[in-house]
Amino acid sequence: MLIKKRALALSGVLAIAASAAGQNTAPAPDLSADVQQQLTALTETYKHLHRNPELSRHEEKTSAFLAEELRKLGYSVTEHVGRYTDGSQADGVVAVMEDSPGPRLLIRTEMDALPVEEKTGLNYASTLRSTNEQGQEVGVMHACGHDLHMTVLLGVAREMAARKSQWHGTLILIGQPAEEIGQGAKAMLADHLYDRFGQPDFVLSEHDSNDVPAGSVAIKGGPLLAGVASIDVTIRGLGSHGSAPQEGKDPIVLASEFVLVAQTIVSRQIDPQRAAVLTVGMFHGGTKNNVIPDEVKLGLSLRTYSQDVQDQIIADIRRTANGLAEAYGVPADRLPIVTVLSTGPVTVNDDAMAERLRQTAVSALGKDHVEQARAIMASEDVGRFTLDGKIPGVMYWLGAADPEKLAESRKSGVALPSLHSPLFAPLYAPAIKTGVTAMTAMALDLLK
Ligand SMILES: [Zn+2]
Ligand SMILES: [Zn+2]
Repeated sequence: MLIKKRALALSGVLAIAASAAGQNTAPAPDLSADVQQQLTALTETYKHLHRNPELSRHEEKTSAFLAEELRKLGYSVTEHVGRYTDGSQADGVVAVMEDSPGPRLLIRTEMDALPVEEKTGLNYASTLRSTNEQGQEVGVMHACGHDLHMTVLLGVAREMAARKSQWHGTLILIGQPAEEIGQGAKAMLADHLYDRFGQPDFVLSEHDSNDVPAGSVAIKGGPLLAGVASIDVTIRGLGSHGSAPQEGKDPIVLASEFVLVAQTIVSRQIDPQRAAVLTVGMFHGGTKNNVIPDEVKLGLSLRTYSQDVQDQIIADIRRTANGLAEAYGVPADRLPIVTVLSTGPVTVNDDAMAERLRQTAVSALGKDHVEQARAIMASEDVGRFTLDGKIPGVMYWLGAADPEKLAESRKSGVALPSLHSPLFAPLYAPAIKTGVTAMTAMALDLLK
């Protein structure tokens, strides 16, 4: 039932995309037709990648597959690029194609999947299971669409190799590991990426979105994704018998109060004009009903659009945790421990590059298929490749939603399954076709 509906919607979208491309011949008259010819092979690639997801820092097979495909297309490929902070090697892939002197363009795809058990019921769904960092057995799924991004990258790689006479300069294609844990871009740069392969003049990437219809892209200059800080808070107390709380300091009650007071940091202490989200996503404590434990571990995720707001909220978290502990009479040597585990940058699109690429996308897809992008509070580490904005970079949204379902959802207010949902299922054929067409047109423009 679901598959039939999808097939119908799909043919409709392809017809729309084809007619839009037909009206708009610039910049490469045969681009859309060429991409259409690749679609059957790219669909197979997409399904292969979707069925074989790998967790962050475990992208062995995925990176080998990507490297092999890029080698077949004539790229000079280097594998295992990247070094994590603990010294272990990353599975980054760098594929280079050079022509005469000219601009240098870096295009990046992520390769990692998520510890999510797929529940789409699709015939190409992932059934793989793996072990996460905590040693728990988990399902693994490309619930963020990185399989779609890799497929589009391979499509672009083929188009650019076939069109070598139409561009100048250097094309650097990056398969990045460990995006979901914010470590991959950092690891590749730490392994002297730019010393070894040269610094690019532009950084281009895409991310699929269930808020944009498949067949379209959405693009804008300025901030697109928030900066992130992952913070652990250990609330310490004094353990005792559950029947005698007066003999201990109960960290479960203290941690509960901390979670509630933490909700007022953004709502009461931060300028409402400055976006921020603070979520407590993990709360672990205790072993038995009648035992008051001596500590509770909390995991927090903070999203902001500027460093000073991030710094202020982290200071507020420390002050709130310490202040509450003192009010509870927790001894000075048992005050809470607040640890910032990792931070990631804000993703800011270069205004001039975004406007240039928006016009290119309009030429390639037709203006009805290029939307104004919306900034969101999710985060990305692609901004690291721009060396904190020194190199112009753009990430655009690649539409992944069934257009009919999206229109319905906008009317009803009931959201479609989002990225990271076990039900996330991009409408892959029009998304792949649109992604390859738009990104190839952008690459040809930037390497004019
Ligand atoms: Zn993700
Ligand atoms: Zn993602």
